[in-house]
Amino acid sequence: MIYLDHAATTPLRPEVLEGMLPYLRQGYGNPSAMYAAGREAKRAVTAAREIIAQSLSLHPDEIYFTSGGTESDNWALVGAFELAKAEGRGTRIVASAVEHHAVLETLRYLEEVRGASVCLLPVDGDGVVHPRVLSEALREDCCLVSIMTANNEVGSLQPIAALADIAHRRNVLFHTDAVQAYGHMPMGDIAASVDLLSGSGHKLGGPKGTGFLVIRRGVPMRAFFHGGAQEKRRRAGTENVAGIVGLGIAAAVAQRDLEAETEREARLRDQLYHQLQEAIPHVMLNGSRDQRLANNLNLCFPGVSAETLLILLDQRGIAAGAGAACASGALEPSHVLRAMGRSVEEARSSVRLTVGPDNTEEEMKDAAEQIAEVVRHLRKGVTDRISAEKEAT
Ligand code: PLP
Repeated sequence: MIYLDHAATTPLRPEVLEGMLPYLRQGYGNPSAMYAAGREAKRAVTAAREIIAQSLSLHPDEIYFTSGGTESDNWALVGAFELAKAEGRGTRIVASAVEHHAVLETLRYLEEVRGASVCLLPVDGDGVVHPRVLSEALREDCCLVSIMTANNEVGSLQPIAALADIAHRRNVLFHTDAVQAYGHMPMGDIAASVDLLSGSGHKLGGPKGTGFLVIRRGVPMRAFFHGGAQEKRRRAGTENVAGIVGLGIAAAVAQRDLEAETEREARLRDQLYHQLQEAIPHVMLNGSRDQRLANNLNLCFPGVSAETLLILLDQRGIAAGAGAACASGALEPSHVLRAMGRSVEEARSSVRLTVGPDNTEEEMKDAAEQIAEVVRHLRKGVTDRISAEKEAT
């Protein structure tokens, strides 16, 4: 198989599995227990917290372990909103129109059930929120802004430091969903500029069901799970020790290899793009050319159904993703591409190819040939129409 869907999830790194196994076999102590096995489990959790903190240039007490990006986003939004509402600091939340569903659906819940008023900001053709647009949307009653660091579909990077600065000037909290960015780009400046930041283990070679929320010191935030005293009484529940250990190792490896690996992935991604451009006409890049994640290529093949393309690629052993799959199995036109100004048809003709540490140049060559072959096959009879349409516009 050629795996080109690293934005969906990544294979567990071998060193992560090795590091986790002792905590699944013999190191089963509860970190809250006072005897040796408990103390050892607690030490492992503390060590992982320090690694995450160090990778973000933050204090360990600003890192809270969660069950993944979705929980971190839910906690950030619900926790910050409920406290702000209770303290009379406003009920309006501003977010971008291209957020992940973990943010968008939580906002819908807050609006429909909890009395929030939600404002979704438009993005430009690259999927980026302009600082001026945020500035104009901030009103007196705004309590929270949530804008992702990097988009999960098109990889576009947002100017987080500038956006957070605008929010802070109006005394508004700023959350960023960094699930796609963490472990894939330098995060220090971003972490330093925000109040809340979500991360997830399985996007960087760690285990699924692990993640963290950064809550900077002094940021007003409600507890999310109620029960035991874990995570400083803010997120109750016995820690997923082996998972947290795995997340820590994945973060350390990602941090160690960051520069070399992002350069390598960008090279592979560009190779794939150029080979596809040479092999077939009318290949459109979705998202910014340079302000994007190193591993992300999102392409529109006009005249081709992305759904059919992905099925045929799967039959040839190539795993790639589309924007967003809907529960019925049918492909909904991506809200991200629509917000960027792509037509429904273009959105339905777009696929996401995301590379990772195990991909090779050989695989890019092979994948480009196979994708080109399938696209040509699916376009039979429609290429002339696409050319004529292109000429007419
Ligand atoms: N936010 C973004 C941007 C994502 O890409 C994802 C996962 O695809 C999530 C949140 C949810 O993370 P998790 O799968 O860890 O719950």
